[in-house]
Amino acid sequence: MTRVLVVEDDPEIGRLLRRNLTELGHVVTIATEGASGLAQAVRDEPQVVLLDLGLPDISGQQVLEMLRGVSSVPVIIITAQDEDSSVVRALDAGADDYLAKPFGTEQLAARIRAVLRRTDPGQRPAQELRIGELVIEPAARTVQLGGQQVDLSRKEYDLLWVLANRLGEVVTKRELLSEVWQLPFGGGDRTVDVHLSWLRRKLGETAAEPRYLQTVRGVGVRLVDPGTEH
Ligand code: CA
Repeated sequence: MTRVLVVEDDPEIGRLLRRNLTELGHVVTIATEGASGLAQAVRDEPQVVLLDLGLPDISGQQVLEMLRGVSSVPVIIITAQDEDSSVVRALDAGADDYLAKPFGTEQLAARIRAVLRRTDPGQRPAQELRIGELVIEPAARTVQLGGQQVDLSRKEYDLLWVLANRLGEVVTKRELLSEVWQLPFGGGDRTVDVHLSWLRRKLGETAAEPRYLQTVRGVGVRLVDPGTEH
């Protein structure tokens, strides 16, 4: 459960965000003006701020700049799609990420998880993950499948860990390159494919008959619990 402050003047988007964020299990406060948003961001110490750039009193950019003077709370900018230069300025001013309108719930959820991961990794103690017959023990970096130890290389383990933490969600190759290899995209997707195929083999499955690792053509891959898939 994360406390999220939304600074957004458009009542429709505000309602939508409140509904989506509440469904995701977050506690939501909404401010409809820049000044009140800034005051609440300082006073209420939210864990994430979603900040619209176009606000009626002071701009989101100004809110961000003033907020950064006093707080390092993760800020995700909400922007209309034709505002590339404002996104760049906002990121330069210390925004952590941005969402271009219109955006879906999954994208919203992923962005929030990502900023929380980046800004406060200590907040999530590494806990054992159990997905079907798969057990991942992060403290020891060990993996068991059906009670049998699976020997994974460092990168195979990292790949599995990233996917397991986003269970059911399609993770793009670009994201995997950045999270597992700390590499920008560009020709490196072959690296992802190769490691995925190794991981797949060690989990006793094939691309033709996947169980845990489902490739979504042209998009990426997701880890699923085969027991709950139909
Ligand atoms: Ca607006």
